[in-house]
Amino acid sequence: MVQALSNALTQNRLHHAYLFTGTRGVGKTTVARILAKCLNCETGITPTPCGVCSACTQIDAGRFVDLIELDAASNTGIDNMREVLDNAQYLPTAGRFKVYIIDEVHMLSKAAFNSMLKTLEEPPEHVKFILATTDPQKIPVTVLSRCLQFNLKQMTPDMVSSHLGEVLAAEQVAFEPAALRFIARAASGSMRDALSLLDQAIAYGGGQVNEDTVRSMLGAIDQRYLFSLLQALAAGDGAALLQEAEQMAARSIAFDAALQALATLLHLIALVQTVPAALSDDLPEYTAVLALADQLDAETVQLYYQIAILGRRDLALAPDEFAGFSMTLLRMLAFKPVSGTATLVAPRPGAPTASPPKPAVQAAPASRPVAALQVQEPAAPVLTVAPIKPVVAETLPEPVALPDVPATPIVFDGDWAALLAQLKLGGQARMLAVHSELESVDGDRLRLRVPAEHKHLAEKSYQDKLREALGTHFGRAMQLSVSLVDGAANTPVRQQNEARAARQLEAETAIANDPFVQDLVQQFDARVVEVKPIAKEQ
Ligand SMILES: [Zn+2]
Repeated sequence: MVQALSNALTQNRLHHAYLFTGTRGVGKTTVARILAKCLNCETGITPTPCGVCSACTQIDAGRFVDLIELDAASNTGIDNMREVLDNAQYLPTAGRFKVYIIDEVHMLSKAAFNSMLKTLEEPPEHVKFILATTDPQKIPVTVLSRCLQFNLKQMTPDMVSSHLGEVLAAEQVAFEPAALRFIARAASGSMRDALSLLDQAIAYGGGQVNEDTVRSMLGAIDQRYLFSLLQALAAGDGAALLQEAEQMAARSIAFDAALQALATLLHLIALVQTVPAALSDDLPEYTAVLALADQLDAETVQLYYQIAILGRRDLALAPDEFAGFSMTLLRMLAFKPVSGTATLVAPRPGAPTASPPKPAVQAAPASRPVAALQVQEPAAPVLTVAPIKPVVAETLPEPVALPDVPATPIVFDGDWAALLAQLKLGGQARMLAVHSELESVDGDRLRLRVPAEHKHLAEKSYQDKLREALGTHFGRAMQLSVSLVDGAANTPVRQQNEARAARQLEAETAIANDPFVQDLVQQFDARVVEVKPIAKEQ
């Protein structure tokens, strides 16, 4: 981004509107102000403003008359925007350009965007817009298309902590590197947050930054607890697990934060299992993470992660926080995935069983929806084999030690299109979903109908992806049946097409009945060439 902007400034190929996107605190408005200096520095348009001329110093001090900073979060109204833009046509008073920085621009009202659009379409030569937002998706396409867009990358904890180190070295403040890593992690990608935490830490630590004070300042979960929890889980030691949880309660650790920290740790373990080099070896808990990555298999880590996330989501619903937290741990203990899916379903050779397939399905843990589905269809023929003698319990395969799938019904109002909008789903699996009609919902099973013309979408791998996305959404293993129908089905795509056709018809009727249009047709022999409905915002 710096390179692109520098080149543009050097070669004087300036755009009249820029859009900076990125998470909070990564430096959008800081870059915007620097750009304002680049444009207005008295030494000329330059990628390296002097920093000493009156334009540069006034911009730094926030009192340069031709730099207008607006916070859309507090000025969303159209009146304000008109007033601002009316002013844009006058030449700058002190500088070369009038620079408008509009922060959190996605917060502007639709009307305000529309009035801005006129100025963006034909901007006066002396006006530059710099828009900043954390949420570019909320900006109308018409505005986006007139801006040169730059995305500021989120800063990694490493980058943040090394920058904090430089700041402290320059300020001659003593610090422990581990303390900076804690701050960097807590700031989650925002340099602004990191710097303000650093400020607090200096005050808190009486002029120096050390690990212990930062830990207690941030109320950071002592990682040792988390390691003990995971070790107890790996060993399948329920007593040790609960003892650890009680100790955490005794130290009044916030369980919401604990579950978050646990998920973060599991994420780290999963990373290390996949890419061992991902773990920087100066991390305080380096060896402990490696040990756990070795003890737990990848599947278990995935499962624990999922359970931790869901446990955190449901914490508010638990009778109390400790109950919610310990239930989450117990669920991890109970849902130990069984290695090899076959053990879940295959009856022992020579032991034909008349048992209905249902228990096997119920036994399938949340992490193994594939196994659960595979067992459903082929299980039927087994029933036709007449058992030679009554089946006794001992001949059955060992039941897998798994708790039942929760019996509560899924929360779903039957609005298939609305549900799809919430699913993380892409490619052909999404195509399958939008070309399907929801036929029925029966417990955890969704039945879909797909028009035969789209039968290529009903491929098993796409079904699997869709079912996984549904499982993630509802937080449990879901079942899916897809059947083909001849002719049309009431699919989201069809609903959308019909709605579009209705809007088109409505627009055409409105134009045809418009007295002004009728006058034009009658008096000037005008002809309506094309009618387009105004796009409705989602
Ligand atoms: Zn200057």
